[in-house]
Amino acid sequence: MPNLYHPYHNVLETCRRYQATLVVVTKTRTKEQIETLYQMGQRIFGENRVQELLEKVPELPLDIEWHLIGHLQTNKVKAVLPYVACIQSLDRLKLWQSIQQEAQRLDKKIKCMLQIRIARESTKQGWAFEELEAVLETGIQHKLKNVLLCGVMGIASLTEDIHQVRQEMRLLRGHYDQLKINYFPDDPEFNTVSMGMSGDYRIALEEGSTMIRVGSILFP
Ligand SMILES: *Cc1c(COP(=O)(O)O)cnc(C)c1O
Repeated sequence: MPNLYHPYHNVLETCRRYQATLVVVTKTRTKEQIETLYQMGQRIFGENRVQELLEKVPELPLDIEWHLIGHLQTNKVKAVLPYVACIQSLDRLKLWQSIQQEAQRLDKKIKCMLQIRIARESTKQGWAFEELEAVLETGIQHKLKNVLLCGVMGIASLTEDIHQVRQEMRLLRGHYDQLKINYFPDDPEFNTVSMGMSGDYRIALEEGSTMIRVGSILFP
C-alpha cells in the first residue's frame, strides 16, 4: 500500500524545488528497505563501503545507478568499477591513476567527483584545495581520459553549530565555482556539487548544493 506520509516525499519535494538530485544512501540497510524506496521511484543509490556495495548490487534491480561515496582503496578499484556509475570519493592522485588504468582496461568511462576536505576535523577524507589546484595545474585531467570528472563532493563537520556547517558548505560551493572557471569552463559534464546529508541537506541546498546524499531520515 503506498504510504503518502513517507519522509521520502518530503525530501524529494525539497530537492526538486532546488533542482537538485537525490542520492539515497543505503549503508546498513536491508534489501527490503532499499526496495521500498525503489518502488517509490528512486533510482540513484549511494554506498560508502565497497564490500556492502558488492553484496547489494546483485540482489537489487539492474537499473539502479550506484554511486560509491566512501573511501576507496586502490586495491578495490578493480572490484567496484564494473558496478558503479559514479565514484564520488576521488580524493588522491594515486586513486585517480588506478581508476584510469582499470577503466581503460575495461574500455569504459567512469564518472568521478573530486572529494574536497571542508570539515575542520582533519580526519575527514578529501583533497586539500590547494593540493588539488596544484594537481589540476599539471593538466592531468586532460590525460586521464577514462575518468569523467563531474564535480566536487564534500562532507561538512558533524556538529550542532549550523553556522560552521553553513560556512563549510559555502566554502565547497566556492571551490567548485573556482575550479569550474579555472579548469572546466567548457566542460558541461563538470556541473555537480554533492553536499548535504540527513542533518544538513536543507542548509546544503541553500548554499548551492546540486546533489544531496541522504540516508537515515529516509529509513524510519
Ligand atoms: C552515510 C553517508 C551519508 C548519509 O548520511 P545520513 O546522515 O544517513 O543521511 C552521506 N554521505 C556519506 C559520504 C556517507 O557516508
